[in-house]
Amino acid sequence: MPDTSRRAFLGRLGAAALTIPALDAFAVRSGFGASSAAAQQQASGTSTMYDLLIAGGRVIDPSQRLSAERDVAILHGKIARVDANIPRNQARQVYDAKGKLVTPGLIDLHTHVYEYGQTLGVDPERVGVQSGVTTVLDCGSVGVPMWAGFRKFIIQGATTKIYALLNISTAGCCLDEVYLDPRLIDAKGARRIIEQNRDIILGVKVRIRGKRDDVPHDVEVMKVARDVADATGTIIMSHWTDAPEVLNVLKKGDVLTHPFNPPSPNTANMFGFGAEQADRVLPEILALKERGVWTDGQACTTHTQWEVVEKAVSQGWFPDTLSTDVARNADTTPASVLAPMTALLHFGMSLDQVIERVTVNPAKILNLPDKIGTLQPGVNADVAVLELAQGKFELRDGRGQTRAATQQFVDVATVKSGILVKGAPQAT
Ligand SMILES: [Zn+2]
Repeated sequence: MPDTSRRAFLGRLGAAALTIPALDAFAVRSGFGASSAAAQQQASGTSTMYDLLIAGGRVIDPSQRLSAERDVAILHGKIARVDANIPRNQARQVYDAKGKLVTPGLIDLHTHVYEYGQTLGVDPERVGVQSGVTTVLDCGSVGVPMWAGFRKFIIQGATTKIYALLNISTAGCCLDEVYLDPRLIDAKGARRIIEQNRDIILGVKVRIRGKRDDVPHDVEVMKVARDVADATGTIIMSHWTDAPEVLNVLKKGDVLTHPFNPPSPNTANMFGFGAEQADRVLPEILALKERGVWTDGQACTTHTQWEVVEKAVSQGWFPDTLSTDVARNADTTPASVLAPMTALLHFGMSLDQVIERVTVNPAKILNLPDKIGTLQPGVNADVAVLELAQGKFELRDGRGQTRAATQQFVDVATVKSGILVKGAPQAT
């Protein structure tokens, strides 16, 4: 079509959008003003500057200490501008986020997403972009021998960005994989795989149990993990322990996960081991913050008991990140990171603190603070649009104990690299 007639054709389309009330009503109902924005643009002659505008929501971006009503403009897959009152006619597509929360795409720091390859594994998109989560960290689902399959069959084709920690045991995440046989701890193989997959593997995972009797063994395994992490310039994520000998192997940048474990003869938590529960958070746990060691907390999993969460929170202690460890909902479907976010909001974290723990904090742990977990202009446009639904919602811990929350996070739209992968209107 010649340029002049093409312009005329597009002009007629714009005029048509203006004069068809049903189409315009659909745009408003569905949260979209794409057609009316285009029409206004045609009418006013303004040139389009942005591909997508997420307009009028409360933007919470702790990386920029921002928590206010703003518009987010996206161009060429990147965040172009975050500002008040960006004219709607400057965008080809407008998402009306009035009354909603707009955050950087969420990051779930503790998942298992080798679906079909490993028993805990779930669909990465289900706990990922379908839930406002644009980046997940798989925590040791596989060790050296299974790595290639995980990369080829899951990571490469996923819309959700997947980073991984390699299990220090070649057995991968199974039952007590670091205790089965010392020959399964393969430092040389781990170093090789990490070197070959630096674009995805960001560290090693060590699933110790935290039992007192295991401490000498755990120190040995942790030292192997330390050597691998140091040699490759990566981090360790370890399951919880209160044993100073094991904690001392951790360095700045490492992560300790599962602070809210139930008191049991098999696990440690932030108040001690088994039935030996201190009244206050243990000093060596409080010291982790000064040492630069991060803590990663869950809710609604076997690694969580509400009393432990309530006791910690009453002392003003919160974990640095919130993650799923792929907990299952009551209907056995995988729960996304929106579940621990809902729980910790109920237990006393502020809204901004909750968002911080699923955006900027995990981005820092992954050493990607300028790439993810932020809406700074220039970064990949990963955005979550959330609603804080009001009502009565049941929270269930690993032992089936319940608490009643009055608010719940619901993901209504997800933008991944500038594309609305969830929340776009259905064609009629
Ligand atoms: Zn896990």
